[in-house]
Amino acid sequence: MADAPRKSRLVSEVDFNKDGKQTGFIRLFHSTHDSAYGFLPIPIVVVKNGEGPTALFTSGNHGDEYEGQVALTNLAKSLDPARIKGRVILLTMANYPAALAGRRVSPIDDLNLNRIFPGDPDGTVTRQIAHYIDSELIPLADFVMDLHSGGSSLNYVPCALATQSNDPALFQKQLAALRAFGAPFTYIQGGAQGQGGNQTLGSGAERRGKIALGSELGGCGTVNPAGLAIAERGVRNVLVHLGILPQSDWVEPPSPTRFLDVRGQDYYVYAPENGVFEPLVALGDTVAIGTPAARIHFTETPWLPPVEITFKAAGIVMCQRIPARTKRGDCLFHLASDLKIA
Ligand code: CA
Repeated sequence: MADAPRKSRLVSEVDFNKDGKQTGFIRLFHSTHDSAYGFLPIPIVVVKNGEGPTALFTSGNHGDEYEGQVALTNLAKSLDPARIKGRVILLTMANYPAALAGRRVSPIDDLNLNRIFPGDPDGTVTRQIAHYIDSELIPLADFVMDLHSGGSSLNYVPCALATQSNDPALFQKQLAALRAFGAPFTYIQGGAQGQGGNQTLGSGAERRGKIALGSELGGCGTVNPAGLAIAERGVRNVLVHLGILPQSDWVEPPSPTRFLDVRGQDYYVYAPENGVFEPLVALGDTVAIGTPAARIHFTETPWLPPVEITFKAAGIVMCQRIPARTKRGDCLFHLASDLKIA
């Protein structure tokens, strides 16, 4: 006989099946020197009205990415249960300890929440959070969107994204939801080649047959106002698209989204040496194969010439590294190229 699936130890203060707006915390018990019987309070908001689809929005999966956290914090206050049909679940600080510290990874176990799905109910704090989201929250949802940005070390052209589902019908639903989200740019990545592979929150949602979307709304560890505006409009438009908010809430995006492709290592530029990174292109630039991308300067050996790196693919510069001090293997840029959608 197979072992029964292990249950999460996290306890929700909110009732997911109750109509109205429920606010509170998911309790993650964490016994420390300072707090023997204490819990980590992971904030959660559930807005429900009768029957209808469920949308789960998460942010703070990486704790130093803020546009999504602000968009969902605003939505938590503005969503009126009387105006919706179905249910909206908001997890503003998915990796609560990381978000509280303003760091990509948890200060408790040094884990990256978006690299450990489906998690472990008996694992360290971040593994328990992943397991709770995967086994308790995602199953409640029809639609899951995990709002990211570039964090402290990267900056992005604000965009939405999806990892292409292997199920063609589900992929069409991803595309329709991405059009509704209406970011100026949307990139599609292949499953195995996406950052995080199959250990991300989004891949957890996809494994359970949910419509899974993501975003990269800016970065540099700050709030990008353009990225925030895209998220605020996009999240509401997705709720209209799903039938949760009324059609009258639709706000037409200034232009249809431009679909882009990010596939394969050639789209990424990495530092070949340790040194100081001088970018030779700007975010949003269109580049060709061979366009100079960056120089790495050797300030410790100033008599040596810098190394110049060129792009190995053509496309739009979607992502750029922020800190100048760079180690061999750091990602400096990634590109995206136009994608024809059938
Ligand atoms: Ca991220």
